[in-house]
Amino acid sequence: MHIAFITVHGCPLRQAGSKDSGGMNIYILEMAKKLAARGVQVDVFTRHHDPLDPQIVMLAPGARLIHLPAGPPSLDKTGVYELLPQFTSQMRRFCISNRLRYDLVSTHYWLSGLVGMRLASEWGVPHSTSFHTMAEMKRRGHPEELEVEQRDSSELAISRSVESIVVWTDDERDAIVEYCGIGPEKICVIPPGVDLTRFRPMSQRQSKEHLGYGEEKNILFVGRLEPLKGLDNLFRAVASLENSSSVRLNVVGGDENSLEKTRLQALATRMKLNTSIRFIGQVTQEKLPVHYNAADVCVVPSHYESFGLAALEAAACGRPVIASSVGGLPAIVLDGTTGYLVPSRRADMMAERLCTLLKDDVLRSHMGIAARFHAETLSWDRSADSLLAWYRELVPEQVAAAMPAAGG
Ligand code: UDP
Repeated sequence: MHIAFITVHGCPLRQAGSKDSGGMNIYILEMAKKLAARGVQVDVFTRHHDPLDPQIVMLAPGARLIHLPAGPPSLDKTGVYELLPQFTSQMRRFCISNRLRYDLVSTHYWLSGLVGMRLASEWGVPHSTSFHTMAEMKRRGHPEELEVEQRDSSELAISRSVESIVVWTDDERDAIVEYCGIGPEKICVIPPGVDLTRFRPMSQRQSKEHLGYGEEKNILFVGRLEPLKGLDNLFRAVASLENSSSVRLNVVGGDENSLEKTRLQALATRMKLNTSIRFIGQVTQEKLPVHYNAADVCVVPSHYESFGLAALEAAACGRPVIASSVGGLPAIVLDGTTGYLVPSRRADMMAERLCTLLKDDVLRSHMGIAARFHAETLSWDRSADSLLAWYRELVPEQVAAAMPAAGG
């Protein structure tokens, strides 16, 4: 089977934790590699965002990343909509000149869904999409959220035109059925996973030493810095802890000098939390396990979260997680067993749970063991097996067998 993944703004090799790069980029990279390991030929098409990148990068045997020029490399995702016709014709041209044909188009995020609608219909092949987030779901969690005006109507059009929608949770499936008015038959729920070898429990003492941390208790946040992530609430919760001077909040992720980072730093100053909060910046996947393992607890205070890979990575490292009970987080955090769920925006309840966990070494240890145990049920291999089985239902075997090899 030959699959074209389209991820116009989300290059899977881009460092996660910046404004436009997070869980979706990690997911695409893992799925491309895992599907290729199962004999699928995968080409991942994305926009050229760095002039130094070669046009074609091998991600793994059988999986290629193809950069296509469309607009200035530095453009962020808000400017990508206008460039979609250009990206579409670049992709069409690339496929014609390299004699590429695909059995299936798999798109990620609404911008790519629009490209997929066009090309899948021209090629007469099924189109499977994953929204990762939808404007409506984000607004439900965070009404202040402003979106490109074309997003809502595009998401409705994509959901109605595609043969398949892959979502990460039952909640997301139900929300799409209700909001888009489509039947559940074409929606498949496949949770993402975690690299259980990379993200594994290690010595907390050595991890803290490695990072140069002292005796203080460590709370960890990992993710892109944006208002939807609810860091303001986490700051409030930390500020209200009785022993806040012996606690550090380590914030991993965010672009240097971004407006949001500057806003959060100013907020920390106003709340007199300068000495309690460390803004660490972006950390590579390879170096993240030591940050999780140095932590006593990881907090995911989001107003909305389609899944929450950071929560799963923390759990895989054997760390208890306190998370908002929104989106996919209840599938990762088992309330009272692997951590705690709290209603979003309830800084008081978050503080209460932080207090309970930070003062009880035994509870943290028990919850950490249970968290790892639960994370072991969510591997990338399992996701890839389910995804491939679903794709096989969409692509009849004789069609897949008849196709000439991609990349030939
Ligand atoms: N991440 C990273 N480095 C950073 C910050 C985040 O590699 O400095 C990764 C993190 O490990 C996780 C992803 O970015 O895999 C964030 O995914 P999540 O689902 O938590 O949030 P999203 O970005 O999808 O909103």
